[in-house]
Amino acid sequence: FMPTLKDPALLRQACYIDGAWVDADDGDTIAVTDPATGAEIATVPRCGAAETERAIAAAERALVHWRETTAAERSRILRRWFDLMMEHQDDLATLMTCEQGKPLAESRGEIAYAAAYIEWYAEEAKRAYGEVIPSPFKDRQIVVTKEPIGVCAAITPWNFPSAMITRKVAPALAAGCTIVVKPAEQTPLSALALAELAERAGVPAGVFSVITGRAAAIGGAMTASPTVRKLTFTGSTEVGQLLMQQCAGTLKKLSLELGGNAPFIVFDDADLDAAVAGAIASKYRNAGQTCVCSNRFLVQAGIYDRFAQKLAEAVGELSVGNGMDAGVVQGPLIDQAAIDKVDHLVQDAVGRGAKAITGGARHALGGTWFQPTVLTDVRDDMAVMREEIFGPVAPLQRFESEADAVRLANDTPFGLAAYFYSRDHARVWRVSRQLEYGMVGINTGAISTEVAPFGGVKYSGIGREGSRHGLDEYMVMKYLAMGGL
Ligand code: ADP
Repeated sequence: FMPTLKDPALLRQACYIDGAWVDADDGDTIAVTDPATGAEIATVPRCGAAETERAIAAAERALVHWRETTAAERSRILRRWFDLMMEHQDDLATLMTCEQGKPLAESRGEIAYAAAYIEWYAEEAKRAYGEVIPSPFKDRQIVVTKEPIGVCAAITPWNFPSAMITRKVAPALAAGCTIVVKPAEQTPLSALALAELAERAGVPAGVFSVITGRAAAIGGAMTASPTVRKLTFTGSTEVGQLLMQQCAGTLKKLSLELGGNAPFIVFDDADLDAAVAGAIASKYRNAGQTCVCSNRFLVQAGIYDRFAQKLAEAVGELSVGNGMDAGVVQGPLIDQAAIDKVDHLVQDAVGRGAKAITGGARHALGGTWFQPTVLTDVRDDMAVMREEIFGPVAPLQRFESEADAVRLANDTPFGLAAYFYSRDHARVWRVSRQLEYGMVGINTGAISTEVAPFGGVKYSGIGREGSRHGLDEYMVMKYLAMGGL
């Protein structure tokens, strides 16, 4: 059920704990299925609290040596890991498409993007500068150093099976921390392949472990452990809130990348073709299953009809199918629950007056494929504008004034990504200032890069990943008051 890999050892069906490939204590397993065919492609261990505690204990032992390595040593190991990922890009992409469903070209792109975080932090490892503060006292020097926070734990989602791991593990390792990762149950194979390559790169036993299995039990053991000093999570706001509560008892540092409800605003003065291209890029990538995907389109009255028509034409041309097939740009949704939700949101909107000008229903291919869809005459009181769709559906709402657009855009508890198109430079600055979001794409639908700080405000989370700031999330400051000078 899976194409043969050039390097079959990258298909790992065991957990990687303390440098060893292990099964669950009771031998229990979880099936991994291909969303395009429904076929079982592998099994991985269904671990729980006991195995997690062992992984954390191993991370604590490994920390003693790892935190004492020089930044240059850690940097070299990370660099080798990056090189290995790029060397095995094709196999890693195949594994990803088989377990996640995204088109092969997108999987290849994600592997390069995921690896870029490792390369970036291999470089940043050497630049974890402290500071010397001018002292108000003649006899005292004030020095600030940065130290690794210690043992970390990570819980990651299925929509970016590789990148959501490297953007956490790379800065953790660069900082001198050790880390235990629980990938999503839908996409463990990409995570285990990363562990295989990390081992080959020379990451010592216990520094990076991957554990698969029962989410609540593993998450419970991670959050309850006083050894774990930091939890980093990407996923839903509900689970993020739960984990934050669970971390209160041990006062862990937290990074949370949670849900979004990204507005995509098109002003009358926008470059129409650029806006359509940006809309396609930000909405239909990964079949709409990213937390920074545009969720709602706010289009000014003067350009609304032209934008709707051009977007519908472009969307109608998106080729849907099995992500392994050449030319396919939209694969299946991750599972049945995902397509049921998307279908429900579309039917609810249509039932309340929206029009599907292209798509609007499940795809003839069956399974979990949904037609790439554009809805017009959508209002902000419809569920499709308020909930994260996580599917290939663009709902278009008309607005009149700039103030209306900003008000509608901010009228959500979320604050991850926002996008807008305008050629008026004063408006660009005005609107950028007023949007309550962690990231704003201006005349672009693509914002993700390892060099920039990724993260949200409000219910979209805490902390930033990527850029030099991403390293600080895994470090603590130590202030040294050097007296008696
Ligand atoms: P999604 O809706 O994208 O699946 P989730 O927040 O449910 O988002 O999942 C993101 C990650 O959180 C996955 O690895 C999942 O296994 C994990 N997860 C879900 N529930 C819990 C929980 N109660 N404790 C710890 N991790 C959890």
